Amino acid sequence: MEGVEGTSAPNENKGRFKRICVFCGSRPGYKSTFSDAALELGKVLVDRKIDLVYGGGSAGLMGLVSQAVFNGGSNVLGVIPKALLPHEISGESIGEVKTVVDMHQRKAEMAKHAEAFIALPGGYGTMEELLEIISWSYLGIHHKPVR
Ligand code: AMP
Repeated sequence: MEGVEGTSAPNENKGRFKRICVFCGSRPGYKSTFSDAALELGKVLVDRKIDLVYGGGSAGLMGLVSQAVFNGGSNVLGVIPKALLPHEISGESIGEVKTVVDMHQRKAEMAKHAEAFIALPGGYGTMEELLEIISWSYLGIHHKPVR
């Protein structure tokens, strides 16, 4: 993770990223290593004082990484279409939740607010988001790192 790795001490952001977008599954997946990776990524973001923008869901890996970031004291911005609120957020939402009209606006908002993108394991939604952000990079629509 360019700009995320390094020698900076915990809670000292010497990297170049203030906010990173994470794409990941709305379910935990079938391997515990997926959950481990989500928690570990959340911890790395907190240690580097990097904020999170993500799809806003409270379940699966999305829930784990956002909770880890929020609990660690970094800011969490969730971007979610209004129609998906009852499906993807159960209980109390965490951090700031921005509702948008549809999936297209969700991806545009996440891209606008992030300086880099990281994908963790996920399903079709994660794949779709990742492939689009890679193709936007390929087309020169943005010049932000994707990992
Ligand atoms: P999944 O990887 O299928 O568990 O989905 C992860 C997240 O991607 C969920 O919050 C989905 O709502 C979201 N998602 C699915 N399809 C799209 C899409 N076309 N644009 C934006 N987000 C999507």
